[in-house]
Amino acid sequence: MSRSRKPDWLKMRPPSGREFTGIKETLREHDLNTVCEEANCPNLGECWSGRNGTSESDSGGTATFMLMGHRCSRGCNFCDVETGGMEPLDPDEPENVGKAIAEIGLDYVVLTSVDRDDLPDQGAGHFARTIREIKKRHPGVLVEVLIPDFQGEERLVRKIIDAQPDVIAHNVETVERLQFPVRDRRAGYEQSLGVLEQVERESDIYTKTSIMLGHGEYDHEVYQTLADLRERGVDIVTLGQYLQPSLSHLEVKRYDHPDKYETWRRVAEEELGFLYCASGPMVRSSYKAGELFVDAVLR
Ligand code: SF4
Ligand code: SF4
Repeated sequence: MSRSRKPDWLKMRPPSGREFTGIKETLREHDLNTVCEEANCPNLGECWSGRNGTSESDSGGTATFMLMGHRCSRGCNFCDVETGGMEPLDPDEPENVGKAIAEIGLDYVVLTSVDRDDLPDQGAGHFARTIREIKKRHPGVLVEVLIPDFQGEERLVRKIIDAQPDVIAHNVETVERLQFPVRDRRAGYEQSLGVLEQVERESDIYTKTSIMLGHGEYDHEVYQTLADLRERGVDIVTLGQYLQPSLSHLEVKRYDHPDKYETWRRVAEEELGFLYCASGPMVRSSYKAGELFVDAVLR
């Protein structure tokens, strides 16, 4: 399908449900924001309510928290986060996030962050403290962290491993050929694969990554990326449609039909052996992360 107009399957569903309102109120009380809201994520209704966004949930839902500020030390050409003018870390953030999560009673939490190349440990210690605060205040919650590449520094990745989250995700984002212009020049395909491989080598923690489609990649390149990830032992993968956040970001080169995403899901799960693959135009790295993880991995 050509670019131009967004197809119908990318229409947003408005969020609703008891969990949605409750989570929103608690976040405001603790003065916290989520990526879900800030990015105006199309999946918010589904993720927060834990099931399909309208029914009574049997799960506390999934929400994604952004740590370490709103400004990133890098500037990827697909990403809407502001670049530069780095802010000091909020030393109370780990505790505040832990308290809010305990109060909301989420079953599954995703922590992500901007990149903080400006800090001596690139924020790895802050990330690790937040994981520990959450686990201490809300035992039993599953914690997924979507971490930066820490410039490939193994001692920094090890700080995250030592805090024992349940899933460590790091996004390879796109196929090898398109790493630049899609990602900041400090990122890289091999560096990202190396982060995931280290987690596999040094722990039993599940690993996860995400690929955007729509940057002009060929099918054989997507297949090669999936194969490379499996070769490094990566357990979980998600595929979703890239959407251009503004005219100054990279153009969408192609919109793939949902059937194509279903084909990739089958290839990833049935041929390559990923534990699960969430694949669809609206899928994002943390899309219904808790629900899918519990269904595919823990049951
Ligand atoms: Fe939040 Fe991620 Fe779900 Fe979007 S996909 S609503 S960012 S948890
Ligand atoms: Fe966005 Fe992450 Fe790139 Fe920063 S490193 S610009 S937050 S994608």
